[in-house]
Amino acid sequence: MSRVAVIGAGVMGNGIAHVFAQYGWDTALIDVSRDALDKALKTIETNLERQVKKGVGSGEWAVQTLGRIRTSTSLDGAAKAELFVEAATERPEVKFDLFRELDRAAPAGAILATNTSSIPITSIAAQTQRPAQAIGMHFMNPAPLMQLVEVIRGLDTSDATTQRVVAVAKALGKTPVEVHDSPGFVSNRVLLPMINEAIFCVLEGVATPEAIDTVMKLGMNHPLGPLALADLIGLDVCLAILEVLHRDLGDDKYRPCPLLRTMVAAGRLGRKTGRGFYVYGA
Ligand code: NAD
Repeated sequence: MSRVAVIGAGVMGNGIAHVFAQYGWDTALIDVSRDALDKALKTIETNLERQVKKGVGSGEWAVQTLGRIRTSTSLDGAAKAELFVEAATERPEVKFDLFRELDRAAPAGAILATNTSSIPITSIAAQTQRPAQAIGMHFMNPAPLMQLVEVIRGLDTSDATTQRVVAVAKALGKTPVEVHDSPGFVSNRVLLPMINEAIFCVLEGVATPEAIDTVMKLGMNHPLGPLALADLIGLDVCLAILEVLHRDLGDDKYRPCPLLRTMVAAGRLGRKTGRGFYVYGA
């Protein structure tokens, strides 16, 4: 395989497109918003410059990588892709509509992967006539830097599809880990309750965000505290994941902290809006 389409050009989509293009894939990057596409290209360019400074590749390498990415506001721009990686907004109805559309538009042999953080792969796959070729390919944020790709098998995902996606992840220099379909998979089932608990600590005045993050960094050796990580992920995405965990596992231990809801309602979504638990410069 050498042609990929990445659907959604937000926080994750730009990083995923960057990784594929870096490894020589012809990459279509698609979003309903032209603004999001322009912003994504700028981010990729900046991140490539950073990689050049670090010696990952030459200036010429960066130009070639960027040159492999074509942007489009329509799925027509992805007609020949062999692999689709959907990284659109974390809402079931968005993903269900997109998978029905992708199923109609994608070549018969193409794999339809989703980067969802928490929505059951089986329910997304069930929107298509090819559930054996639908799978979770869960990149971590920031995708160009993080080693893990969580590969999630839906109920009907075939061995062949899983093996192909595992091979692609390895070819992208990543370490794939296979897990079964369950709300939040492994990564977010374990991570989000910790982030939620840190937000409860802020709400209850146990400590400041800085103090909470310092405890987790220095005490638990986490590279980033849970609140800084929540800002990086996006507080809206955190809330969406917790809602899925709460509803689908039916356990109140996943109840989203009211402060998280308030911050999302106020538009304080973290880095992407310049303010979350911390304030970010221009
Ligand atoms: P985001 O809000 O930054 O970006 C989503 C993008 O999808 C937006 O640019 C939006 O315009 C676009 N979009 C919405 N509907 C679309 C459609 N029908 N067709 C094409 N584009 C559409 O979100 P994000 O943080 O990049 O998350 C994307 C996916 O990746 C979600 O499923 C999320 O759960 C998952 N994810 C996020 C993180 C993270 O740290 N943010 C990590 C791993 C996985």
